[in-house]
Amino acid sequence: MKAVLVAGGAGYIGAQTCKQLAASGFLPVTIDNISTGYRQAVKWGPLVEADIRDRYAIAGTVAKYDIRAAMHFAACSLVGESMQNPVKYYDNNVGAAVSFASSLIENGVKNLIFSSTAAVYGLPKTMLISEDHPAIPINPYGATKLAFEQALHWIACSSDLRFTILRYFNASGADLDGEVGESHDPETHLIPLLCKAVIGSGAPLSIFGSDYPTPDGTPIRDYIHVVDLAAAHVAALQRMLSGGGSGIFNVGTGVGATVAEVIRTAESILAREIPYRIGPRREGDPAVLVADPSRILHTLDWSPRFSDLRTIIQTAMWWQENRFY
Ligand code: UDP
Repeated sequence: MKAVLVAGGAGYIGAQTCKQLAASGFLPVTIDNISTGYRQAVKWGPLVEADIRDRYAIAGTVAKYDIRAAMHFAACSLVGESMQNPVKYYDNNVGAAVSFASSLIENGVKNLIFSSTAAVYGLPKTMLISEDHPAIPINPYGATKLAFEQALHWIACSSDLRFTILRYFNASGADLDGEVGESHDPETHLIPLLCKAVIGSGAPLSIFGSDYPTPDGTPIRDYIHVVDLAAAHVAALQRMLSGGGSGIFNVGTGVGATVAEVIRTAESILAREIPYRIGPRREGDPAVLVADPSRILHTLDWSPRFSDLRTIIQTAMWWQENRFY
């Protein structure tokens, strides 16, 4: 069985990807320091509890499982926190990531799939954002993801490492069987906060700004179901293992929804009103972020299957009501 090293396999997107790797015949070997992930989420392969800077742990794991490819999910991912603490973001998202890449090369692992973000684009100049859109981030989160993308480019020029960069739009929803979902502490994302507000386990929702240049004044995002997002990793891996070269792909649907639309959809599914108030804008939030997904649709054996708002909200809601970690 082909083993894949999954850095951050105990997290929301990493664990979902481990599940799908196992379903596709791979052995996902998680390396995670459990700083934000959950041991209970690692169910489809072994857990190596170590930091991605731990060169000895990586060398031992690659040898033990005969690892041929790696995925890197182990990063800090909150725009707001990155504005407050950029040093943390440069240290982890760039410093630790570079160390991880060099450990992979030292140990003969030649394929790396990296979780990047639409935040690399900054303020979009076009309605749909293609991979060739200028990357001028407006927050340290996006800047550090872009810095590692650029590092990967140069590292690959001087080694036989190949990479696939997946630029995620808004990851959301939960596993269709209820096995993994989003449990961040603190939670800052719209859909889990909305679910918590409905259940009564969180504060009423605050909409961050209603004066954006969008039809209803609230920001537009491209929500991609975590099951679709994980499937994109497996498709990217299959492509790399069958000889595909390095590449950058947006992972989104090409369809955006405003915050108000997300709330209205949730209200219609749940047949009840969701308590919310309009608050000020959040620093670092662009008005619109919607993918042009043409490249991934044409190049990978992938298309979104579960990324309609109803499925996203229903699965997220189920997870928040029943979550076991
Ligand atoms: N948002 C909001 N209230 C919240 C959290 C988020 O209005 O409590 C908005 C936010 O401004 C953005 C959208 O919801 O337009 C998605 O934000 P989220 O934090 O989920 O993801 P991001 O786009 O920052 O990756």
